[in-house]
Amino acid sequence: MSATEPVVTYRTDGAVTHVQMNRPHYRNAQNSAMTYALDDAFTRAVNDDEVKVIVLEGAGDHFSAGHDIGTPQRDIDQSFPRRASMQWDHVGRSGADARLARESEVYLGMCRRWRDIPKPMIAKVQGACIAGGLMLAWTCDFVIASDDAHFADPVVRMGIPGVEYFAHPWVTNPRAAKELLFTGDPISAARAEALGMVNHVVPRAALHSTTTRIAHRIAAMPSFGLSLAKRAVNQAEDAQGMRLGMDAAFGLHHVAHAHNVEMGTDSLAGMDVAAIRSARPNLS
Ligand code: ZN
Repeated sequence: MSATEPVVTYRTDGAVTHVQMNRPHYRNAQNSAMTYALDDAFTRAVNDDEVKVIVLEGAGDHFSAGHDIGTPQRDIDQSFPRRASMQWDHVGRSGADARLARESEVYLGMCRRWRDIPKPMIAKVQGACIAGGLMLAWTCDFVIASDDAHFADPVVRMGIPGVEYFAHPWVTNPRAAKELLFTGDPISAARAEALGMVNHVVPRAALHSTTTRIAHRIAAMPSFGLSLAKRAVNQAEDAQGMRLGMDAAFGLHHVAHAHNVEMGTDSLAGMDVAAIRSARPNLS
């Protein structure tokens, strides 16, 4: 793949749009270019009356290895046009001011907006779905996984209490969330299904056909009804405390980033992809 290829592709199949992350050589590590391209693609799909259902997927062998913390196209120091005006541009600022500004928009803010997109979204997950990859899958309404998919949030190894979109207790349950966080270990697609994080697990060869079939099945429903049903369920989650819980966790997340810097490392406690991978255990 060349650097000029789009980091996100958009393909429409009748009433179903496939938004695909396209950095397969980096296991679809999410840099800001990808985040903003995803936002553009979702906005396009929302505004297209022909589109009823959005499928989010990753090119290649993996859904997403998480936020880009080490590829040549890592771009955390770059400006992108602000989307929601909830915080100023991080570029030109420093310390916690810069970090909170950036993560408020590109991580928590984007994910929250995507989770409330008024059209059903299905995450089609194969291979790795790690840390920031979880955030992308969790913003979707459904998760359909292949049997080789695995899910992990290892960021406690950086001293950070979970990824920015802190949905862990709501997409699993409090005990499972603690196990995910305390061990950092990956869980299999089958375990994720048992915990309620995943809707269906299918063989890798059937992942695309199953996802497409379910997407078209949903697309036969009226759009307005789907949007209201989605809103009703999301409001129930918010009433259960998800939004407040995420706000509280986001504050702790930023205490952790700042603590790491105060202790003389970078905001990730000096850990890179290799350090995270070297601690990787077997699937459970
Ligand atoms: Zn962070």
